[in-house]
Amino acid sequence: MQTVVNPRPELGSTRVLSLDAGGRILDWISWQDAVCLYVRGAVAWTLGEPCLTVHGGFNREMGRQSLIELHPIIASTGHCRDHAIDPAPALTNAALFARDRQLCLYCGAHGMRGELTRDHVMPISRGGHDEWENVVTACVACNLRKGSRTPQQAAMPLLAVPYRPSWVEHLILSNRNILADQMEFLVGHLPKKRRAS
Ligand SMILES: [Zn+2]
Repeated sequence: MQTVVNPRPELGSTRVLSLDAGGRILDWISWQDAVCLYVRGAVAWTLGEPCLTVHGGFNREMGRQSLIELHPIIASTGHCRDHAIDPAPALTNAALFARDRQLCLYCGAHGMRGELTRDHVMPISRGGHDEWENVVTACVACNLRKGSRTPQQAAMPLLAVPYRPSWVEHLILSNRNILADQMEFLVGHLPKKRRAS
């Protein structure tokens, strides 16, 4: 496939939200993968105004260069992946810190990536599990101070209750360059109780 891009460099980091033909949310895909869907004729329908124009090869009969306009949300034909039904986002430190908005859930301090740690609310040594509902973002100082104690024992109450993000929340948290059309669509699919936050 011959594609040369990119008219607007700031959109190079733009990702396309992919859905299945039934409208179920799948995942972010790169614009390159989105182009492949168009070229393969696998785009069922789209939402939103075109956000990126990709120049393709020359058509000799027409004497023109083909253009593909990428839409911010693309539903493709084909089968839905299993994890799209209600997948559990992987518990990584990056995803955890994003859930907690880079804040220490003990002292509320905002930290950079290297200054934050994963704290187990119920320590592993006391039978706690390494799962979304038992982990919070903590600054190094708070993590050291708490040690292998529970928040009650350490007299360090949590500022928020840890929870497992839905797949939609995970998609919102994992992309810093969400376009307006995409955000509107994703927010509409959030669990009702978290739309306000
Ligand atoms: Zn702290």
